[in-house]
Amino acid sequence: MKYLDEYRDGDVAGKIVAEMRRIQTRPWVLMEVCGGQTHSIVKNGLDQLLPEGVELVHGPGCPVCVTPLEMIDKAHAIARRRDVIFCSFGDMLRVPGSDGDLFTIKSEGGDVRVVYSPLDCVKIARANPARQIVFFAIGFETTAPANAMLAWRAREEQMANVSLLVSHVLVPPALEAILASPENRVQGFLGPGHVCAVMGYGEYVPISARHKVPIVVTGFEPLDILEGTLMTMRQLEEGRAAVENQYSRVLDRAGNLAAQKLVGKVFEVGDRKWRGIGTIPMSGYRLREEFARHDAERLFDVAEIATLEPEICISGEILRGIKKPHDCPAFGTLCSPQHPLGATMVSAEGACAAYYAYGRHLKPQGRDALHQIAGGTRPAAGGALWGDAGRA
Ligand code: SF4
Repeated sequence: MKYLDEYRDGDVAGKIVAEMRRIQTRPWVLMEVCGGQTHSIVKNGLDQLLPEGVELVHGPGCPVCVTPLEMIDKAHAIARRRDVIFCSFGDMLRVPGSDGDLFTIKSEGGDVRVVYSPLDCVKIARANPARQIVFFAIGFETTAPANAMLAWRAREEQMANVSLLVSHVLVPPALEAILASPENRVQGFLGPGHVCAVMGYGEYVPISARHKVPIVVTGFEPLDILEGTLMTMRQLEEGRAAVENQYSRVLDRAGNLAAQKLVGKVFEVGDRKWRGIGTIPMSGYRLREEFARHDAERLFDVAEIATLEPEICISGEILRGIKKPHDCPAFGTLCSPQHPLGATMVSAEGACAAYYAYGRHLKPQGRDALHQIAGGTRPAAGGALWGDAGRA
């Protein structure tokens, strides 16, 4: 299948890893930014293929994971109202708040609906003029244009019964926060392919220059990730720090200018709390004042909701690349996808959920995938060469 099979070739993977071995002179710690990349790495056992001393740590780019618990609780408070039809993408329905999830609310009579596009809410609003239609607008820059389009249409068509509960986060301020931390271990980034497809990669150039870190915008298939890792290592070995584009079949430096223009008209940048990390200045989008009548946080009385995360959870350190799921005493025991305690277990794209899904709670970790490069066969647990890559 074009654009898939050629990016899952075990022989090519072996050659890329051999080249890593040839150029490597010392250990390196690299971070893949996206949850989709983390999923692909764990599913395909890519971290186990890398040369000894080349470590991939998992970044904050899982939108469900970093949506704060209080925002989930706000969504639930709104969804429980009888005058509301609460609309969301499916992945938010099983994310637990302090008291159940959206499935629970639906089973108790709440009108919770899964939509496949934010614009589905326009149709629902027209069919239900006496109800309030609220869309849960979460995610990174990738989903912002479609969410902005809903707010734009609602305002243009004067649909007083459409609003958005917005919890958008931005990647560049998160990378800055990781690099500025005294505990930082990250020496180079595999940059966020899907985010850069919208935003381009120009805004990463000053970050790379300021912190002297290579940033290689990378795709999601196994060979994308191995090639991105090699390109990052090559920069580090040569003492360079620049932004490079491994994912050139999808994106360029400028990104999608029409989408950026729409996002700029609807949203403004403000401080945003990240689940597991805390507040990062100027790291999120909120609706501009012109869209206030479509802002669910202003329309419904949910501003004061506050929550506490379980003390045992170290997801904040995982999202900053300081620790890994195995370092958490609750991983696979007290905490699982069925009973998630923290941010990185709540979404399938989260690092803890990915480790769990591919059996890394069942057996000791090793470098046992190495022998499988050439054959491209699928290990039973701990990694899978070359299955479907995860979405970003
Ligand atoms: S395993 Fe659960 S409790 Fe531990 S860090 Fe991951 S999400 Fe938090």
